[in-house]
Amino acid sequence: MYDLIILGAGTAGLTAALYANRAGLKVLIVEKGVYGGQIVNTPLIENYPALKEVSGFDFVQNLYEQAVTKFETPVVMGEITDFSFTGIKKSVTVDQTVYTARSIILATGAEHRKLGCAGEEKFKGKGVSYCATCDGAFFRGRTVAVIGGGNTALQDAKYLANHCQKVYLIHRRDKFRATKVEIDSALKRENIIPIYDTVVEEIMGENMVTSLKLRQIKDQTETILPVNGVFIAIGLNPNNGDFSKEVETDEGGYLIAGEDCKTNLEGVFVAGDTRTKRVRQLVTAAADGAVSAEMAVEYLNC
Ligand code: NAP
Repeated sequence: MYDLIILGAGTAGLTAALYANRAGLKVLIVEKGVYGGQIVNTPLIENYPALKEVSGFDFVQNLYEQAVTKFETPVVMGEITDFSFTGIKKSVTVDQTVYTARSIILATGAEHRKLGCAGEEKFKGKGVSYCATCDGAFFRGRTVAVIGGGNTALQDAKYLANHCQKVYLIHRRDKFRATKVEIDSALKRENIIPIYDTVVEEIMGENMVTSLKLRQIKDQTETILPVNGVFIAIGLNPNNGDFSKEVETDEGGYLIAGEDCKTNLEGVFVAGDTRTKRVRQLVTAAADGAVSAEMAVEYLNC
């Protein structure tokens, strides 16, 4: 039996492994895809303290070596088909093998919702981004579009307006969902141009994005809007699988825990983007990893 099983090998999960290993716990990591999480796809990270510039790939590689390779931590790759988090002895099943532990950290992350329009997959990383704070600086002086009408879209538009010549803010309705304060401050900016009642039909270009095909939903007219980049900010979907059967979630499906990362279940912690929180960034995922591991150590020592 392990002391701790960490589900998810993104920044939160790997940081949890680093802290748990350094505390001397017997740790197992379970990851369903490739280790590293969302950040692997980010070409350049410029907002992680003390690392002026690092690629997402190098960041993850370093973290993996520091947290996993150095401690020879076992990693099981595969889908979780069953689990039980209640009681003292917790278990997860992967490929018909049952792994047991005294504590669990859920660090399975969240995925950006996809628009599902033509060109979105093709131009990912070539003008299509889901993270303004990660990629906005690459569009300095250019024209971009932000898709969405929530707080993230409005904040992204303001962030991008600091770098870009022009920011189109394209929303499918005639009213933004974001808070009034966000809307007022965004619309005050001269280089943010709202486009209401409009959906993106296609993201177009050759090697890089050059334009969007838009459809006005009231009169069904189609237009081509030249842009250099498009930031899709239509919300997130937490990767919680069936965990909500045992762990409490909010209305958006995020696992409920405060800054101490404790869920409603004894010995079960949640770290990173899949936790209810305000700011989903690399640095807050790492912070959750550290906190959840420390809380697991405290729990195991009681
Ligand atoms: P959100 O509030 O769920 O808003 C998503 C937006 O995208 C909505 O305007 C929605 O349109 C639009 N949308 C959804 N699917 C779409 C589709 N397929 N095509 C076109 N548009 C689509 O997501 P969020 O902005 O990421 O915010 C998530 C949560 O974090 C919210 O609770 C938000 O308040 C919170 N947040 C808080 C802060 C803060 O500083 N307090 C900052 C960022 C986020 P409709 O409006 O028509 O549904």
